Amino acid sequence: EAKKAGRGRYRFYNASMKEKARRRKNSFDALLAGFDQGEITCHYQPQFDAKTLELTGLEALVRWESTEFGLIMPSEFLQTAEDMGLLAQFDELVLDRALRDMETWHCKGLDVPRVSVNVSSHRLNDPNLGDRLKKLDLPAGRLSFELLESAFLDARNDVIDRNLSLINEMGIDVEIDDFGSGHASIASLLQIAPTRLKIDRSLIEPIVASKRQRDLVKTIIEIGKMLDIRVVAEGVETAEHVSILQEIDCCYLQGFGLAHPMCAATAADFMTDLQNADGRVQIAHSG
Ligand code: C2E
Ligand code: MG
Ligand code: MG
Ligand code: MG
Repeated sequence: EAKKAGRGRYRFYNASMKEKARRRKNSFDALLAGFDQGEITCHYQPQFDAKTLELTGLEALVRWESTEFGLIMPSEFLQTAEDMGLLAQFDELVLDRALRDMETWHCKGLDVPRVSVNVSSHRLNDPNLGDRLKKLDLPAGRLSFELLESAFLDARNDVIDRNLSLINEMGIDVEIDDFGSGHASIASLLQIAPTRLKIDRSLIEPIVASKRQRDLVKTIIEIGKMLDIRVVAEGVETAEHVSILQEIDCCYLQGFGLAHPMCAATAADFMTDLQNADGRVQIAHSG
């Protein structure tokens, strides 16, 4: 399918110009220039209580809003950022941005329950993370850090342990992101004792077609309950997903079927609309 579209497009674009643009987009220089010019920003994807469908938080997702190339997704530049040794700085910038946006929303009279930011292993491994965080005015109880399983399982060490306890002391929640997609260590549930666990989209998608997949997700939710860890389902795309996840007692839902990621201003409008309605999100009827 992608191939077909690609072939069609070659008729209209000069292939070598396109290749040049692609190469430049992936270059260190372009990304660094974008970073310096303030083109790195973030979008927000709402999360909801599975039972009431009320807003429970927003996940901040980094975006490159390039004047030259348009909107660029993290899959297209995070690797470059990591290769440049800039990933921790991107994370820091997203946190700054999110704190400022929370302030703006607050001034507009919007009640934002929580914002989650993704934290790379580079940042989690920064011995100065605690000092950097202490300089910020962090909204305790309203901020959450999402960590990939690989972030701490690859190389658990003293720095990470110290940072995790500092994060905890500062009242910031910790979530394990993409659970079940990678290293899938069940031991991390005890080692990290996260506030929430985000089940990877790849485990959610098949729950409609397969009872065994549904049972697997249900079991993870049940383990979470026993350990006092709430479960978030990622990649909730359809009304069927929603009703199954409600049935198996999942706590929180996030996915395109409920709301797509959106810029800060659109997120403000979205929240205003929710507040003016009955507070419950409408489920999209197609994925
Ligand atoms: P993630 O943290 O697991 O974020 C969820 C990703 O799934 C987002 O992609 C979101 O747009 C997408 N998504 C949400 N609902 C659905 C759905 O129903 N269907 C499908 N197909 N996808 C859905 P996005 O924004 O492209 O981000 C991709 C990944 O990039 C993130 O995955 C995260 O690992 C990483 N990332 C994003 N922002 C940051 C950041 O500020 N710092 C770091 N270190 N990583 C980030
Ligand atoms: Mg995440
Ligand atoms: Mg995730
Ligand atoms: Mg992911």
